[in-house]
Amino acid sequence: MDSTFKSDRFHDECGVFGIYGHTEAANLTYLGLYGLQHRGQESAGIASSDGTRIYSHKGMGLVADVFDNDSIKSLAGSSAIGHVRYSTAGESHIKNAQPFVVEYARGGIAVAHNGNIVNAFVIRAEFEAHGSIFQSGMDTETIVHLMSSCKERYLIDRITFALSKLKGAYSLVFLTDKGTMVAARDPLGFRPLCLGRLRDSFVVASETCALDLIEATYIRDIEPGEIIIMDKTGLHSYKPFAPVEPKQCIFEFIYFARPDSHIFGKSVYEVRKNFGRILAQENPVDADIVIPVPDSGVPAAIGYAEESGIPFEKGIVRSHYMGRTFIEPQDAIRHFGVKLKLNAVKDVIKGKRVVVVDDSIVRGTTSRKIVKMIRDARAKEVHMRISSPPSISPCYYGIDTPTTEELIASNHKVEEINNYITSDTLSYLSLEGLYKAVGQDTNFCDACFTGKYPVKVEDEVKAPQLVLFK
Ligand code: AMP
Repeated sequence: MDSTFKSDRFHDECGVFGIYGHTEAANLTYLGLYGLQHRGQESAGIASSDGTRIYSHKGMGLVADVFDNDSIKSLAGSSAIGHVRYSTAGESHIKNAQPFVVEYARGGIAVAHNGNIVNAFVIRAEFEAHGSIFQSGMDTETIVHLMSSCKERYLIDRITFALSKLKGAYSLVFLTDKGTMVAARDPLGFRPLCLGRLRDSFVVASETCALDLIEATYIRDIEPGEIIIMDKTGLHSYKPFAPVEPKQCIFEFIYFARPDSHIFGKSVYEVRKNFGRILAQENPVDADIVIPVPDSGVPAAIGYAEESGIPFEKGIVRSHYMGRTFIEPQDAIRHFGVKLKLNAVKDVIKGKRVVVVDDSIVRGTTSRKIVKMIRDARAKEVHMRISSPPSISPCYYGIDTPTTEELIASNHKVEEINNYITSDTLSYLSLEGLYKAVGQDTNFCDACFTGKYPVKVEDEVKAPQLVLFK
């Protein structure tokens, strides 16, 4: 199997969007993708349909770089789907940008996927053994091969057949050349996907912040295991799979989703603030100020400050003209990026005992630089507080994480990490505290903190790891 496919399966931090039945479908999708840009910054794409064929435009880079007036105009029709994707150094390639568009015996279809199908390599190997030719390195491509191999007459049956063969995480939006739109979420509901309305049109998006941007009304989340078809006859919901206990990604709350979104029925901002409150109860410290690592640590730092009574200050300022530190394709840029992105406010920090709140420690490199930055600004003490438990295991369901060996908490005790990042004290939110903050302790995947994977991950999926994090 080609190496592009293997390594690319791990870089599926993505956002999806779709709108059915609006004269400005492509334009609104373009705006929706702006709202989802934080979920992927390496490529962006839109596919539209006017009921006769599919039009598509995609490219490498940010939404603003990929589209202009002409490309939006070329996306004719009243339904459109869009995608933003984060991919990585070696294997980032336009052929892996989505929506993925193909022609098969039943016509044209476009698909946009957020998640990671852990048995895609098995399915692909079977198809290839029978002579199928794959165009991309994406796990998503297996879905259309499965659909095309299915002889069922109706779209819903072909999609159900394809999805029934998949293991892992998928929040999907499809668009056919007839202009029919389909949204689907895997039975465990790993990744978020919501449904909204804009006057007479239906909208689906990874996060509600994309609905807000186009002034669509949130209707509900698409349920785990649900398939929704939107066509001329309206909206039809199907639940063809046996219900199972959902395993929604807890890390979406911690880091990935935008704080102004509601996902899995909860406000991301409120949940993050609760993380901070409980973090303060579990790990109090005498200090003068609480400062967040912007932007990911902000709501938890506010919660920590409120609960502890220690004043909140913006002790670190972030330049907004760079991408997220991790979402940069080269190691050298990532390391340099911390300095380019963050700077301490010396007047706030000088002479103070500082509590620094961040959402997670991955490899410890950012935290180490941040602690140094705060010490250089003449802090008296630096106490690091992390609003999630130690990250010990990689995610195979769509969040980009390094190997177990590279996750600092998988092979170091908290005290050792504290020494490495050179803080005076370091503490993490407990797993119990995490669930107390979320308000329930079932329905979530916490494999990154526990190593308990709800869907078996084959060794082939674990083996090739990110070039990015080497
Ligand atoms: P480090 O100190 O190098 O371990 O990096 C920790 C920082 O990475 C924290 O500020 C997190 O907000 C951020 N982070 C955590 N998980 C991810 C991820 N999957 N992608 C990008 N950034 C992340």
